[in-house]
Amino acid sequence: MTDLSPTPTDTREATAAMADAGRMLHRLGLSPGTTGNIAVRAADGVLVTPSGARMGDLAGETMSLLAPDGTLLSGPRATKEAFLHLAVLRTRPDLHAVVHVHAPHITAVACLDSEDPDHPLRPHTAYIVRRLGGAPRLPYAPPGDESLRSEVERISASHPVFLLASHGSVCASASLADAVALTEELESAAQAQLALGALPVRALAADQQRVVEAR
Ligand SMILES: [Zn+2]
Repeated sequence: MTDLSPTPTDTREATAAMADAGRMLHRLGLSPGTTGNIAVRAADGVLVTPSGARMGDLAGETMSLLAPDGTLLSGPRATKEAFLHLAVLRTRPDLHAVVHVHAPHITAVACLDSEDPDHPLRPHTAYIVRRLGGAPRLPYAPPGDESLRSEVERISASHPVFLLASHGSVCASASLADAVALTEELESAAQAQLALGALPVRALAADQQRVVEAR
């Protein structure tokens, strides 16, 4: 897949990479139906997938170009979830791509009534702690409800991978390829947790997590 790092400047190249990313998300079963959306920082704004677009069928689509405040600069109406992407990209100038999905296992974990409501994904492996930052969960808000914006800004300052309660995930990275990879890896971690079900599990102890976080 076309990579985009550190900053894409060419809109056509970025649009092609978004179509590649969408196809991969769809092929992996991470973006059922018309769910999921992608954003990439471009030279003259932020490219976001249009409202109602199918991630597996973005080839030839014109993306929505938005100003950082969400104003539509060109193209079709953007997804109503664009504010999630813009909030992350505004907070994190070091990151250039955001992938939001309602993948099945991620969404299932995001719905769990867990002991620690902020961390339904349990730290079973060093990998979940380090690569996924533990994927903290933000409180529920209806899709498109912009009241979540300040929470997204707060969490993304330290955690580019996070869950939205009873909704899905947001994965941001310096490159679109890596944002897709993070999404795939988060889905895999969620699937593993659900596979464990009610089996007795030994998650990493707090001191073991601290060692991993310090590396
Ligand atoms: Zn969503």
